[in-house]
Amino acid sequence: MKLHQHNSPPQMLRGNMVANLTTGCPHVIADITPLTLLDYPGKLACILWFNGCNMRCSYCYNADLARRWNCSTLFPANFKEKNLYEFLHVRSRFLNAIVLSGGECTLSPYLPEICNMARSMNYSIKIDTNGTNPQLIRYLVEQDLIQYIALDYKSPYRKFHSITGGSQGLFQAFDQTLSYLIAQQKISFEVRTTVHPDLLNEADIQQIINDLEMRGYQWNYYLQHYFHTDHNMHNLQNPIRRFDPSLLKSKIPIQLRNFKDQRSSVKDKSQVSCFL
Ligand code: SF4
Repeated sequence: MKLHQHNSPPQMLRGNMVANLTTGCPHVIADITPLTLLDYPGKLACILWFNGCNMRCSYCYNADLARRWNCSTLFPANFKEKNLYEFLHVRSRFLNAIVLSGGECTLSPYLPEICNMARSMNYSIKIDTNGTNPQLIRYLVEQDLIQYIALDYKSPYRKFHSITGGSQGLFQAFDQTLSYLIAQQKISFEVRTTVHPDLLNEADIQQIINDLEMRGYQWNYYLQHYFHTDHNMHNLQNPIRRFDPSLLKSKIPIQLRNFKDQRSSVKDKSQVSCFL
């Protein structure tokens, strides 16, 4: 894989590449959330949303973004700044981080260059990823181009295809990413799973917990309850069954997100927290 040098000047993001992108290009920035206090722990951040994804998760609420492979510009047209360089430069006075999300941001050929440019402005960088590009993730970590990763552990292997539409190869790629992140000591990361109780039950999550424990994962494991929107990938409805976190046994801390009224404890050494 040919990647850009860490210290190479980010010329293409200053305008040339934007001008050249007239015929459509995959994996570019489809939209930007200018400010978030929630998506990067302890930081004031913006979110860059990349289009295109190699999965089709049933519950995906960014389905339009995930399916979209063609945009006419690298930078969204609804901002007064002309390009990403200008956008980040102006905001570097009051933001200290960026979140790269999507879609699947690690599919973008522009990602190293974007990280390089943002790092030159002292931004901390977090990526949200399904973990299917282990080579790029390793490169970004080792070149100090990212500081935090939120890694989706979609499901146990036997349900991976039905939940994500992804192949065995994608699960193996995710597996490599997870092993690498647990072994490295350069950056912080978190593992998280979206739980739609009709798709993933307590036994499925227990299988993931057991796998994480066996691999030596020691950090927070986030369970995010499915959030219903009118536009999700497979027109999924609100779950019929209820997920009971108290059935889980875990040595690693479990954090619950969007589990309404379910502040119940995980058995054994429970360190469960609940964000409603
Ligand atoms: S939820 Fe699934 S389909 Fe949607 S962006 Fe994430 S990995 Fe892709």
